[in-house]
Amino acid sequence: MYKIAIDGPAGAGKSTIAKKLASALNIEYIDTGAMYRAITLKAIRLGIDMEDENSYGFLKDTNLDICNGRFILDGEDVSEKIRSVEITENVSTPSKIKCVREFLVDYQRKISDKKSVVMDGRDIGTVVLPKAELKIFLTASVECRARRRMLERKLAGIEKSLEETIEEIEIRDYKDSTRKESPLKKSEDAVVIDSSNMSIDEVVSTIIYLVSERGLV
Ligand code: C5P
Repeated sequence: MYKIAIDGPAGAGKSTIAKKLASALNIEYIDTGAMYRAITLKAIRLGIDMEDENSYGFLKDTNLDICNGRFILDGEDVSEKIRSVEITENVSTPSKIKCVREFLVDYQRKISDKKSVVMDGRDIGTVVLPKAELKIFLTASVECRARRRMLERKLAGIEKSLEETIEEIEIRDYKDSTRKESPLKKSEDAVVIDSSNMSIDEVVSTIIYLVSERGLV
């Protein structure tokens, strides 16, 4: 059994890479960003004050599940809804709240406890899986990340200019890396991969090489 942690800023390609990697290694992929997004969706629907830690009492009645790659919130498939611009623009707020992080980190540790996993997020190597056998910090230039995000969105029919997308990414990275609770930070023992000039397959092969170099497969 082994764990691979992939952290990095917004739009670095973490989920695309992690998904491919998990499939190549035949292990499970756990998208922790989707969990913060689902909590944000529920918070918006409930109309709570997202800045107030005391508003998150609803967590105790919240049920998250991943089923065949689909993300289920309280029995509802929210896989597409959590990718909306509204959720993306708001997700950094619930993500900085201590009780939200405790609730999700506990869940993430539980589901990764008894199996080999690839988990991606912001605090996986530093907080969730500090003993992961392999830690990757995946990054790319901000322009490159914005262009990828635009392409992804175009396929979903959402259009935003390059400037707006760069600004959105910079704001989110700033919020994620300056928050008090588990900020986005490279773990000291993580391998940095800058994917600006690499294809998806090149990044996946690089990680598979690191996995075999460590004798994990
Ligand atoms: O990876 P993704 O862009 O889906 O993450 C959405 C947001 O969830 C991040 O911007 C961050 O605020 C939060 N997040 C986090 N810790 C994680 C994963 C995501 O705070 N492990």
